[in-house]
Amino acid sequence: MKCSFCDNLAIISQKYSGFHLCREHFVRDFEEKVEKTLHIGSMIAETDKIAVAVSGGKDSTALLFCLRRILAKRDVELVAVTVDEGIAGYRDDTIKAARAIAEQLGIEQHIVSFREEYGYDLDEMVPGKKVAPCTYCGVFRKNALNRAAKRLGADKVATGHNLDDEAQTIMMNYLKGDFERLMRFRPWRAQKGLVPRIKPLRAMPEKEIALYCMVNEVFTESRECPYANLSLRADVRDMMNCLESQFPGTKQSTVRGFEKIAAKAQGSYAQMDLAACKECGEPCVKELCKACELLGLLGSGSSHSNKDH
Ligand SMILES: [Zn+2]
Ligand SMILES: [Zn+2]
Repeated sequence: MKCSFCDNLAIISQKYSGFHLCREHFVRDFEEKVEKTLHIGSMIAETDKIAVAVSGGKDSTALLFCLRRILAKRDVELVAVTVDEGIAGYRDDTIKAARAIAEQLGIEQHIVSFREEYGYDLDEMVPGKKVAPCTYCGVFRKNALNRAAKRLGADKVATGHNLDDEAQTIMMNYLKGDFERLMRFRPWRAQKGLVPRIKPLRAMPEKEIALYCMVNEVFTESRECPYANLSLRADVRDMMNCLESQFPGTKQSTVRGFEKIAAKAQGSYAQMDLAACKECGEPCVKELCKACELLGLLGSGSSHSNKDH
């Protein structure tokens, strides 16, 4: 099949757009869309220092690679932050991949570990607990990234969330009927103590991100987190992929529909002011932040007694 824009062979057919793209036009299309996302969201200002969360997987690797390219001529500093959650047989390889891409691009990398920050690996937090592993992981990772970004003096935290992640999160909140969480998904003003988070890849389909890594010959660790299948997200992901293949553009329209609801609700739905956690000072809704609340649960659990052995 020929590229829709030149005589070269197409490497991808975008069903949702109707275009076939060759390598060169695919890369151009990809980077233009990311640039547009940055621009529309006013995500990055001149002289910003951006902490890029780099896990070593394809999303964050593509993020670091394309931010580097897009921002090459601007006065923006990038620094890679890798969170080591402590997941045996999974994280070590992804950390290696994260280090490799940071080195290849000449970007400084910082590693923050759950063990150093909170005293436990994720593997130790999980056994015998009613809380799902992804809940611990999500809460502590957010907390660790925010703390690391502040230590590094970063103005923003960039994460590799893609279109699939965004559509899944929105759909999950619909399914749970969780309107509050849904509205918190698009914060529209800065909060004290919280480094603003940006998602430059949020319009990019996961498949195209994988292809972007491939054509740019960047190595990524594609292993899936061993805890991934224990969550509702895995089922919603399958459902959305099934719908997307039958009705191309479903993921985009899911996000677009939500953006309209969020815009309408903005005036009537007040965004709460965050307080400082009385334990650690991180921004939070209640007296204790979610991380300290979960740490309290861990402290009273049985896994704690094994900690010093
Ligand atoms: Zn072409
Ligand atoms: Zn706290």
